[in-house]
Amino acid sequence: MLFKTLSEYYEKIYQTASRIEMVGILSEIFKQCSIEEISKIIYITQGQLAPTFEGIEFGIADKIVEEAISVATGYSKEEIEVQYHKTGDLGLVAELFSKSSKLRRMSDKKFTVLDVYSSMYKIATTSGKNSKELKIRMLSDLIASSEPVEAKYMVKYPLNELRLGAGDETILEALSLTITGTRSKKDVMDRAYNICSDLGEIGEISLKGGIEAIENMKVSLFKPIRPALAERLPTPEEILKKMGGKCAVEQKYDGFRCQVHKDGNKVKLYSRRLEETTEMMPDIVKAVINDIKVDKVIFEGEALAYNESTNEFLPFQETIQRKRKHGISEKIIELPLHLMSFDIMYLEGKDLLGESYEKRRALLEDVVKGSNTISPSKRILTDSAKEFEEFFEDSVENGLEGIVAKDLKSHYIAGARKFSWIKMKRSYRGELSDSLDLVIVGYYLGKGSRAEFKFGGLLCAVYNKEKDMFETISKLGTGFTEDQMVELQSLLTKIKVDEKPARVDSIMKPDFWVYPKYVVTVKADEITKSPMHTCGRSKQPDGTEVGYALRFPRLIGDTTIREDKSPEEATETKEVIEMFDQQKRVSISKKS
Ligand code: ATP
Repeated sequence: MLFKTLSEYYEKIYQTASRIEMVGILSEIFKQCSIEEISKIIYITQGQLAPTFEGIEFGIADKIVEEAISVATGYSKEEIEVQYHKTGDLGLVAELFSKSSKLRRMSDKKFTVLDVYSSMYKIATTSGKNSKELKIRMLSDLIASSEPVEAKYMVKYPLNELRLGAGDETILEALSLTITGTRSKKDVMDRAYNICSDLGEIGEISLKGGIEAIENMKVSLFKPIRPALAERLPTPEEILKKMGGKCAVEQKYDGFRCQVHKDGNKVKLYSRRLEETTEMMPDIVKAVINDIKVDKVIFEGEALAYNESTNEFLPFQETIQRKRKHGISEKIIELPLHLMSFDIMYLEGKDLLGESYEKRRALLEDVVKGSNTISPSKRILTDSAKEFEEFFEDSVENGLEGIVAKDLKSHYIAGARKFSWIKMKRSYRGELSDSLDLVIVGYYLGKGSRAEFKFGGLLCAVYNKEKDMFETISKLGTGFTEDQMVELQSLLTKIKVDEKPARVDSIMKPDFWVYPKYVVTVKADEITKSPMHTCGRSKQPDGTEVGYALRFPRLIGDTTIREDKSPEEATETKEVIEMFDQQKRVSISKKS
């Protein structure tokens, strides 16, 4: 496929406000491309060069791109900057100056998608002396020989500013449509994605072997599995009822989720977001090599800072100091990590996802015998609410967050939040059971005392996984420091869009829409019903439509943006509905 053809399809995607249409356009692209091309096209569409866990990033600054456009079109850097200021979009600048280029087109070469991908790969991975100049030259060579529409995407791609709005779910649905003629096999595609986390690979297998090959995909080493997630309930009684009797109750540790892949002496670690964290935790890697006596294994746990002298786990604020690229060796001594392991997914060539929790736990205990650095999580098995409560209280007294209860018979449900794992935290004893992670979909201009920040507040949404849409739940104007307002204004102007993005469902209209990219953590007093928001909106008996909203929302969290969560990992609509129901139950039981 020619890169120009792909660019023209992207133009179509940009112009559509409908998610279904977007799926159709993507499927048209997939039908036309070859087996060799499909993974690259998927990575380009995601604004990536490879799946996230490979950690290959462009890291290209605006200045490099500005210079490349200048070299390719003959316009001065000042002229380019003026235009960039006006439009806020270097892709548009490249398109514009390429249309009226002062230089002759370098060649009549028609770039294929593979040509552009391999050049971009080189641009991203060139390092060392003169790398800046080399990157500028490679990018300007591409722009100088391309047509305006191609130039636009050749610039947007390395800047990670494609903003097509095609999330993982949309791509999976389009693949289902491509190979089966219907969107209905998306659940099969989902399963495949949950066990390999690589949309490019799924695209390739889809074209090679069709839906059968996708159905037969198995877990493999060094392809991280999308983590199982926990539902929440506020009391032991409700959890035991939901579990249908006896269950496991494990201590809940507050650190970094850590998925360990080991093949002999080769070990890699992955975070909850499936980024590789091996370099960050050499102490864990060493312990895996020394203490885990099996050859091939995938298991997971929570890594958290540990005080060996007092035999205590430290709070998250301490553990987070280990999240660094430099000075790791000093921090290892100051803040050693301990890995509390709670599941095993693969052992000596066997995929264990379909085994019961009990079976997996027995295998985990065989593999993780307990050492200075790696132990199995502490747990009890119980069907008594009293015993459950005592274990919970004991965990909280020891500085832990709470517990995670586990259904003894359930499989490992990758990439989904199901009731086979149920968390109960100490914070649930308050009014609203938990904080929410919300996606910013728009913002308001500052008025009055906020006018100087050009920032007055956010319009926030939750994620509706079934519909693959972002539904608004709250305006957010409280909890920001002045520095945070400046930070947000600067981050958000870069992702402003003229129209409401296709995957945003909103009745409200902010001063500016933004592309759904950033997640913030919000605490509120209560979840209420509101006709103004689209979260969980449904028709009432009186014919009106009502959704859910937050009462007295405020920004919380150690950082303004939750870097560890993608928009699709924000709180889901169904969780809000559950939290609303729980809140009702807690307030009823308080009154009685
Ligand atoms: P979530 O991960 O559910 O989206 P979150 O990021 O706010 O929400 P928590 O509410 O803290 O996380 O709850 C789930 C997390 O708890 C898991 O992702 C895991 O990292 C951690 N955890 C700690 N101990 C355990 C355990 N014993 N079993 C399962 N998960 C555990």
